Amino acid sequence: RKEQLQLLATVDPVTKDNVRMKLAGNISSVKDLELTFKYGAEGVGLFRTEFLYMDRLGFPSEEEQFEVYRQIAERMGEHSVVIRTLDIGGDKQLEYFTIPEEENPVLGFRAIRISLDNKEIFKTQLMAILRASAYGNVKILYPMISSLEEVRKAKEILQEAKQELTARGIAYDDNVPIGAMIEVPAAVAIADLLAQEVDFFSIGTNDLVQYVLAVDRMNEKIAHMYHPFHPAVLRMLRQTVIAAKEAGIPISVCGELASDERALPIWLYLGVSNLSMSSQSLLRVKHRILNIYASESRELGAHCYRLSTSTEVEAELVRYLGTEV
Ligand code: PEP
Ligand code: MG
Repeated sequence: RKEQLQLLATVDPVTKDNVRMKLAGNISSVKDLELTFKYGAEGVGLFRTEFLYMDRLGFPSEEEQFEVYRQIAERMGEHSVVIRTLDIGGDKQLEYFTIPEEENPVLGFRAIRISLDNKEIFKTQLMAILRASAYGNVKILYPMISSLEEVRKAKEILQEAKQELTARGIAYDDNVPIGAMIEVPAAVAIADLLAQEVDFFSIGTNDLVQYVLAVDRMNEKIAHMYHPFHPAVLRMLRQTVIAAKEAGIPISVCGELASDERALPIWLYLGVSNLSMSSQSLLRVKHRILNIYASESRELGAHCYRLSTSTEVEAELVRYLGTEV
């Protein structure tokens, strides 16, 4: 089965009725790149840069970061590489940058909040990413966006980073696209407004499910309540996709749900064709795409969307998946 799947690496992910999907890889290091190639990813949909900052004594320099981002951008060629800015806090900590203990770390000082509060660290990362943009198809993604102000502040700092590089005579892509992670309910509620400020959306279902359902994604005691197919989540997904489509900006999904084959009818119904996932999942999801009809899946997705409970939605999706799992 594994060898058979491997043969699909160079096959395009199209449904039986010719609907083209695009599967990209999630990575957290240069090392991960080889697997994304082996399994035929069309670009990097999420580079979790926080791992560059971990297991060391201090923040990585602009030069060190640039070297990593450049290698990835070059290796990916024309395919896009979405580089997410530092997403620490919550469950991810750095030994050399201690965050005072918090009652609710997941609702605390994390991700873009830390970057905007530590402008120099943020600017260093942005300059490194900008420099890499001269070597490939690079996009910048901001994590945990919950307001327009955050995006605007991030843009201001990006502007300063550009000016500094220009002053230093260093090349970069002045039109590097910027995107917002949609992973906080507030971002969904203002998705129409955010869509006017950014060039693309990427839905982070891991955090989105956690925040929409108020279910800690790390707490085993309530793991049975963590339902990606909860109608509340499906409504949030739909609202986000509609906002992106109305504004004419691309949208992709990079949370775990992107790698869940059961979710394909939902993506097809919503009109999401870009999915980014761990390399290990790419061929499995592609295999499934090759074996379904988009028309049929969309109908099922529409039906699921109207159901009232996650139990019913899951049952329908699992039934459709058949015995193949
Ligand atoms: C997510 O929240 O879905 C996501 C992709 O980001 P992370 O898992 O790194 O929080
Ligand atoms: Mg997240």
